[in-house]
Amino acid sequence: MNFGPDLPQKREVVTEIPGPNSKALADRRKAAVSSALGAAVPIYADRAGGGVIVDVDGNSFIDLGAGIAVVNVGNSAPKVVEQLAEQAHKLTHTCFMVAGYEPYIEVCEHLNRLTPGDYDKHSALFNSGAEAVENAIKIARAHTGRNAVVAVEHAYHGRTNLTMALTAKNMPYKHSFGPFASEVYRVPTSYPLRDELDGPQAAERAIARIEAEVGATNLAAVIIEPIQGEGGFIVPAAGFLPAMAQWCTDNGVVFIADEIQTGFCRTGEWFACDHEGVVPDLITTAKGIAGGMPLAAVTGRAEIMDSVHVGGLGGTYGGNPVACAAALGAIATMEEQDLAGRAQQLGTLMMDRLNALAEKFDVIAQVRGRGAMVAIEFAEPGTLKPLPDLPKALAARCTQEGVVILTAGTFGNVIRLLPPLVISDELLIEGLDVLADALAAELSA
Ligand SMILES: *Cc1c(COP(=O)(O)O)cnc(C)c1O
Repeated sequence: MNFGPDLPQKREVVTEIPGPNSKALADRRKAAVSSALGAAVPIYADRAGGGVIVDVDGNSFIDLGAGIAVVNVGNSAPKVVEQLAEQAHKLTHTCFMVAGYEPYIEVCEHLNRLTPGDYDKHSALFNSGAEAVENAIKIARAHTGRNAVVAVEHAYHGRTNLTMALTAKNMPYKHSFGPFASEVYRVPTSYPLRDELDGPQAAERAIARIEAEVGATNLAAVIIEPIQGEGGFIVPAAGFLPAMAQWCTDNGVVFIADEIQTGFCRTGEWFACDHEGVVPDLITTAKGIAGGMPLAAVTGRAEIMDSVHVGGLGGTYGGNPVACAAALGAIATMEEQDLAGRAQQLGTLMMDRLNALAEKFDVIAQVRGRGAMVAIEFAEPGTLKPLPDLPKALAARCTQEGVVILTAGTFGNVIRLLPPLVISDELLIEGLDVLADALAAELSA
């Protein structure tokens, strides 16, 4: 039997979708698992690697989601599996705050080296993206002695109480879960398709709002995803991020880049901030960091990271040694295989094909993205009124044809493509062809 990247790299549907084994698991799930957890596709995975997911019925799907930008190095990547297995045999847990271990320190060294900014950096490790964001806010507050935090429209920062407050979209993330953490303020962002502003103008609008409604001297941090993920892969106009970062610097406000989805080669650079030379004070990472193992980090200016009292940060599992070993395997894989360069190639391939598609179908309002983080926004031609049912229908059609594809967007009207960076050109092209056929079929249905 094949595992991980040795799986045959092909699309093959051999049963109805979902097949009998997936249906049986769906029944067990219904009986055992909270119905509050959604499911993007009705299949159950058995193994995955390279650019495919093989389900429990033997159907092989082209993976254009990478577990939401997590398995950038591919599922069960050899170095990840090797290093985590070796670590698991040595020790699985001591708690870094009880007895430290080398892999934690080594991951921090890599993060300090790879993240944007030439200054002296320190890192701290956590379990999930939301936990990293929570801690970044704690650090910024401790450092500045201020309380207020600004997030932007369409933002997604997680599902814990503070990160729900930072997240923009009500359904499904916030609905019925309030009250939310206080001292969180939301300002407009740059959304080139839906506003008329260039980057500096959009920053001016956001800053004017902050100054009028929050006050710089009350503000601990501004947190922004350099390309918004769940919000619909919104790429801000050039100049927006640098102007926001500069204003923060000028006003003693900590600028936090949430690179949880954009980080680790996804956008064609190690981090999305690198495209515009933006240097954040703190950066949050997770998703792509450890090839699928739960790990997250806050990295930033040493003097900010160290402004918290000893014992003020931590957690039982944060920076678990097995997860750290996986991260070391993933980082080595990204460097050795130049997956940032590969993301650029995949991005060019996707952009060319999708732009050609946009010429043919006027429901495509925009194709956008950077590197291997590409989206299609669908809207009523001429009006930009979102078409949220279309991406859902397309994703369902694609699943039937053996392609896993994800939706996104505040208005639900976006298809997002996040292939593993180790996918072959052939497989990616085949997946895009299936998507194109699904669109043609849906519009003529
Ligand atoms: C996924 C995501 C988070 C939350 O990460 P979890 O590991 O799910 O808690 C935060 N910010 C961004 C930008 C994300 O994409």
